[in-house]
Amino acid sequence: ERLDGALLRTDGVSKAFGGNQALSKVSIEAAPGAVTAIIGPNGSGKTTLLNMISGFYRTDAGTIELDGRPIQGLSSYRVARAGVSRTFQTPNIPEKLTVFEAVQAGCYATERASVFASVLRLPSFWRARRENRAAAERALALVGLSAQRDEPADSLPLGNRRLLEVARSLAASPQVVLLDEVASGLDEDELEVLESLVRRLRDAGMTVILVEHNFQLVLRLADDIYVLAQGAVMAHGTPEQIESNPRVMEEYLGV
Ligand code: ADP
Repeated sequence: ERLDGALLRTDGVSKAFGGNQALSKVSIEAAPGAVTAIIGPNGSGKTTLLNMISGFYRTDAGTIELDGRPIQGLSSYRVARAGVSRTFQTPNIPEKLTVFEAVQAGCYATERASVFASVLRLPSFWRARRENRAAAERALALVGLSAQRDEPADSLPLGNRRLLEVARSLAASPQVVLLDEVASGLDEDELEVLESLVRRLRDAGMTVILVEHNFQLVLRLADDIYVLAQGAVMAHGTPEQIESNPRVMEEYLGV
């Protein structure tokens, strides 16, 4: 069924790598201010779908819309600028940056125009810089890393590095944030921090798309769940519906 008011929508998105059909006609809808989870076994196409939405790969077929406007075919930079930002499974934080600088660098994902302005030292450069600093401070406060702002980013323990990665994606003030396996490798305490962060993002009106292995975490956090298998959506529903779907539970999650 078509959910009116979806903020982000893929419609019939397909992608093949050589002869390998990684995605077949995948249609998902993410409602504004909700957590939409994408789950499925390894190789089912979750990361590929994220890469298509965020403009890292081109679609072979299908459309992707943000707030009713097509974004498929845009470069990752333009997708970010349009309001969709993402985290990466392997955080790629430049060496020797402080936590604050690393988050601030996230702002530049949408600020290419400032390269020109910075060379000429235009007023717009100073304004953009102030705005970036403020956005970075807000993002750091939101994930609870303000106290670590001056520490070397690569010295943070894993849980905090994941939070930093989320802060970097928030620094661009996105409408939609794509979280790629942000819980992997976290211990119970770190998981709790992350879980409460995702809830706060949702409560603040952020639209979250969560690609996640931790099924229990997904059941607790998601408003809506899509299950991928072999590149296609094999189930879609609320956590209650997914949890009571024997096909999902037995064939695809092995529980
Ligand atoms: P998941 O994230 O669910 O584990 P992926 O999206 O990574 O699944 O992979 C889906 C399929 O697409 C797999 O068969 C994988 O080997 C293939 N695939 C993904 N990315 C590439 C790529 N860049 N080149 C070739 N094949 C790829």
